[in-house]
Amino acid sequence: MYTLIDSHCHLDFDTFNRDRDAVIGRARRAGVEHIVIPGVHRKNWGPIRDICEHDVRIHACYGLHPYMADEHDQNDIIHLENWLDTNECVAIGECGLDYRKNQPDRQVQQQFFSAQIGIAHAHGKPVVIHAVRATEDVIKAVANHPGLQGMVHSYSGSYEQALRLIDLGFYISFGGAITYTNAKKLRAAASKLPLDAILLETDAPDQPDTDHHGQRNEPAYLVKVLECLSGLRNEPVEAIAAQTTANAKALFGL
Ligand SMILES: [Zn+2]
Repeated sequence: MYTLIDSHCHLDFDTFNRDRDAVIGRARRAGVEHIVIPGVHRKNWGPIRDICEHDVRIHACYGLHPYMADEHDQNDIIHLENWLDTNECVAIGECGLDYRKNQPDRQVQQQFFSAQIGIAHAHGKPVVIHAVRATEDVIKAVANHPGLQGMVHSYSGSYEQALRLIDLGFYISFGGAITYTNAKKLRAAASKLPLDAILLETDAPDQPDTDHHGQRNEPAYLVKVLECLSGLRNEPVEAIAAQTTANAKALFGL
């Protein structure tokens, strides 16, 4: 038997309010021992803290997601710094850049992103990054902070960009997207990146694997990501579980 870590799971979202304990129970029975919850908005930080206080194997991150850049205000950065003075966390984030058409203004996103990277670096914490069609700008931003560590969650950049991120001290995290056979570039990257730089995540309730397409994702389904990666790399599930779990423990200090 193996143990896994869901390195990115929005367990605080309302969709889990009715059955969160059952979801956690199913995760544990599936071998998912630890769960890392990224923070997306100041309103979520309190609920995340409450969940983590009740379970020492669920871990908090606090940050401001680029999707909601229009809802964040400049005071949230100060609020975040103050929050960190009194609340434990394993990382800063989820922060980052999303350059799809329907997303908030890029300059606004960039301001919140660079402020949060600065906070992470100053506090000696890793950073959890969301990067969609923005991997090049993310690389530039983190390269300005030598020694900063972190992860790029639900990775969607190229193989070459992943190698540059790894060189900068970052882990590359894969989720349900790798189970879709049409994700050829992504699957090729996942099959040949060094295993000591890879993390597994569900991004639940979003991004379900092919077996759960159209359904609410949950951390127990991390096993599907593990099995898929095992197939793509032609390596045993136990070896992938052991290394990715060790990677997550190292990054988050678990
Ligand atoms: Zn997320």
